[in-house]
Amino acid sequence: MDNPTLALVALLAVAFGGATLLAITRGRALDRLIGILDVGPAGDVDVAARAAVQARDSAVWAARGTNEDLAHIINLIGSGIVRLDDHLVVSLANEAADTFLGRGRGELNGLSAIEALGDHRIEAIATRARDVGWANGEVTRSSGQTLVVRVRRSPVEGFWMVMEDVSELRRLQRIRTEFIDNLSHELRTPLTNVRLLTESLARDLERIDLPSRVRDGILKIDVESGHLVQMVNELLDLSTIEQGTVPLHLDAVDVGAVVRGSIDRIRLFADRQGVPLEGAVPGDLPPVRGDEERLGQLLVNLLHNAVKFSGQGEPVVVRARRDRDAIVLSVEDHGVGIPRAEVDRVFERFYKVDKARVRGRGGTGLGLSIVRHIAETHGGRVWVESTEGRGSTFFVRLPIGETA
Ligand code: ADP
Repeated sequence: MDNPTLALVALLAVAFGGATLLAITRGRALDRLIGILDVGPAGDVDVAARAAVQARDSAVWAARGTNEDLAHIINLIGSGIVRLDDHLVVSLANEAADTFLGRGRGELNGLSAIEALGDHRIEAIATRARDVGWANGEVTRSSGQTLVVRVRRSPVEGFWMVMEDVSELRRLQRIRTEFIDNLSHELRTPLTNVRLLTESLARDLERIDLPSRVRDGILKIDVESGHLVQMVNELLDLSTIEQGTVPLHLDAVDVGAVVRGSIDRIRLFADRQGVPLEGAVPGDLPPVRGDEERLGQLLVNLLHNAVKFSGQGEPVVVRARRDRDAIVLSVEDHGVGIPRAEVDRVFERFYKVDKARVRGRGGTGLGLSIVRHIAETHGGRVWVESTEGRGSTFFVRLPIGETA
């Protein structure tokens, strides 16, 4: 669900709870006041008691009106919204929730979570939220419908569950992935042939005397065909990782060895750019449960970028440290940095910060999407801290996992 919807739901939760609480609290306080006044002398006290009763009634009416109004609003929201009490019994559901769960209007009220939700996976999300305060999940039902389910404890009482139908989005994502996959496969063979031919032509240039216009043309084709082959390979890589078709080869991975191996692979490129490379990994790090080759690919991508966006003499440092049940890897550079407004976007596929700046440095805009997917398939995450003109540090947090 998008942020405005979440914010609206949070607001509704607080407003509902607040109105109810207000009515109850005011009602109770006024009841006490009436109780006290009832035992007092007649006259003024009667007037005061009547005023108190009126005040209580109008508070209850105001709360009821607010509730009705809010119930009306939540029916306009396309996401399913269900309020569950502390025992996971439905106390309110909007029309979208009725539709998602195949119920008539109002039928969900009073049902337990398992009766109402009709799916043990959705119920499990609600139960987890009851135990720890929140839970999220994605469930594809036998009908083919895919729901993203989020449950949070209400600040007042019970829980709010929000269900979003993402079936169409997931279908389009599958089509996109399959399309890119097929296209890349078709392109790979002819492009690889072009690449091999231009490579050998470029080598021949040393021996054959050709007009400079022809030489320049061959060298440009050589460079551009290299980019095309790299892009097609990265696209295929990304779709393989996204689809999860090739399973991870999980093992106990020595992070220090992965860091050293990745530095070795980038060394030649870094030397050519005049960028010093350093690794700082303590010797006593525990192994992480992961796929050694994929983790190497992740680090090489980060190191490649760090070197590519650094100036001569600006060092790149790779670090690894333990943080509770995880290992945090970082790749720090002192290069061009990333403008604040673009920091969140660099992990999107094909995203390049300021294409003019990237020109001449090569790259497809896919490397960081691959990094993010590898981190996430290991149950980890990746993020970046950067100051434009000062440099960037990319972080990867990987859970240690069961390595025994
Ligand atoms: P590319 O192949 O273009 O490097 P990436 O997905 O690896 O694609 O990176 C996306 C964009 O993020 C890059 O084009 C660049 O603008 C920015 N970027 C990535 N790493 C760095 C870095 N270390 N310093 C500055 N900018 C970076």
